[in-house]
Amino acid sequence: CGFVAIVGRPNVGKSTLLNKLLGQKVSITSKKPQTTRHRILGIDTQGAWQTIFVDTPGLHIEEKRAINRLMNRAATSSLGDVEMVVFVVEGTRWTADDEMVLNKLKGLRCPVVLAVNKVDKIEDKATLLPHLQWLGQQMAFAEILPISAKSGTNVETIRELARQQLPEGEHYFP
Ligand code: GDP
Repeated sequence: CGFVAIVGRPNVGKSTLLNKLLGQKVSITSKKPQTTRHRILGIDTQGAWQTIFVDTPGLHIEEKRAINRLMNRAATSSLGDVEMVVFVVEGTRWTADDEMVLNKLKGLRCPVVLAVNKVDKIEDKATLLPHLQWLGQQMAFAEILPISAKSGTNVETIRELARQQLPEGEHYFP
């Protein structure tokens, strides 16, 4: 345990959010763990269910074992040990794949933060409200945050929530 999972269907903006959270460009396609302060432990890109696992050196987990363990976990779609899940959706679109991810998250015990992304694309912000309200009825989210991973809106709030949830607090996110 001790990590945050960023989940969502393809193209919702997970890697963009991750880059903003980490404050640097990281490659999620690389099979090698990053040598940056925060490393990508694994990414499961099978089907519509995509998960990016983030870890930091503070955990002292042997890299290879950790990756295998996490990839196995991703393969079985079990997120049982994560401290917090950031479920990324688009503010402009809800698809059957989003629904599928949502249903997998419903049984989790850890807090699930709903990040409604790409709000910078929505000109009339009033149209977002019914969407947020509808999303809020789908399951018990710890928070529902309209965000823009691209421009940074509310990304700091997500970082703060991760800091609060993770056992080592401020050591995890810059
Ligand atoms: P992923 O597949 O979930 O990792 O999605 P990506 O991070 O690769 O983003 C998919 C596309 O959405 C890219 O073209 C991003 O530039 C774009 N995108 C991501 N976040 C935002 C956002 O907040 N606003 C806008 N306008 N585009 C975004």
